[in-house]
Amino acid sequence: MQPTANLRRRSFVTVSPQSHFPLENLPYGVCRRREGKICIAVALGDYIVDVTALETLGMLDIPSAIGRRFFQGETLNDFMAQGQTVRRDMRAHLQQLLDADEPALRDNAELLAQVLVPMNDVEMLLPADIGDYTDFYSSREHATNVGTMFRGADKALQPNWLHLPVAYHGRASSIIGSGTGVRRPLGQSNPDNGATPIYGPSRSLDFELEMAAFVGTGNALGQPIPIAKAEEHLFGMALLNDWSARDIQAWEYVPLGPFLGKNFATSISPWVVTMEALESFRVAAPPQDPLPLPYLNAPNRTTYDIQLEVYVQGVNMNAPARVCASNFRYLYWALAQQVAHHAANGCNLRPGDLLASGTISGPTPESYGSMLELSWRGSRPVKVGDETRTFLLDGDRVTMTAWCQGDGYRVGFGSVEATILPALLED
Ligand code: CA
Repeated sequence: MQPTANLRRRSFVTVSPQSHFPLENLPYGVCRRREGKICIAVALGDYIVDVTALETLGMLDIPSAIGRRFFQGETLNDFMAQGQTVRRDMRAHLQQLLDADEPALRDNAELLAQVLVPMNDVEMLLPADIGDYTDFYSSREHATNVGTMFRGADKALQPNWLHLPVAYHGRASSIIGSGTGVRRPLGQSNPDNGATPIYGPSRSLDFELEMAAFVGTGNALGQPIPIAKAEEHLFGMALLNDWSARDIQAWEYVPLGPFLGKNFATSISPWVVTMEALESFRVAAPPQDPLPLPYLNAPNRTTYDIQLEVYVQGVNMNAPARVCASNFRYLYWALAQQVAHHAANGCNLRPGDLLASGTISGPTPESYGSMLELSWRGSRPVKVGDETRTFLLDGDRVTMTAWCQGDGYRVGFGSVEATILPALLED
């Protein structure tokens, strides 16, 4: 039987005396508390619950991992490595501990003061030590738009695109948390396709609306992951902004692909929503034609209904203006196919690795997930509040949000945001 809205579990933590925060989401993050201590936490409405402290106090024993600890470090990697069973047990345990009818924590004021902290009182850190970062290119709409701009409509999709989830290896060292400013990169470009390129600040700085999945349990080197088992290797998801300097990218990408046009910064949201919290929002994935090869083909392919928005606020604007509304479900290649393809040659994925989806563009112009597409390579200025943009200006703040809409509640991803800082120029 499917749980209905009125049977959803509610927490003793309240918005108002009558309104309890639901226990559906419980995303994991890493934060620095006021006194400087770093802890792993779950988010509950406007609060964080310090699970490191709960574990230290011996309150997190679960059947699949009695006596074992995985929240004592400063990243989620240890917990990510535990896999699906431990994660599910921990979810059930935390839902029980935080339930409105459960007195153990609710009625222990001294304990509560130690573990329940207003979110505004903590600083969010990167959730994981990300060893490797891969960026896919899984939106057919995005790949078609970009291909049309650069090669023309008849050659928009490359011959491989419908047969495999195209990707490249990104750079993990420049993955930054929400709120960290992004410096306009310097680089080489050839804007007029002339005999010699130029070097200077990028003139076409862009965002890419993406989501990213964190790897939970990995695979041994040389050992592929079958598609039927692929989702078991995922821990959870976050929002990702794959900053892109289009002029640098356009000049450098032949023949090996993205490099300095991409690796100056990648922003991720601080809270990781687990795959279990997304389960109620599973939907059919877009049909695939032609059918992919058997190692990528799963019957009843599914994805998730996750609503996405991008806002831009310039320095002279009073409020952020929405520039894009899209949905994760538009993606042609599903998460399981990305994982199975990534490991098909025996490449080993490790706990904490990050797999980005690629820009998530939808079928309509307002659902395009980058300024490149929204402004059609700079040819159609985009209305942003009372202003217009082709690409991003210094001082622009870009905010991405995501949520799953349930019956009377949401499973939210929070946001990822950053402000563009001017290029560092020599005097
Ligand atoms: Ca990308």
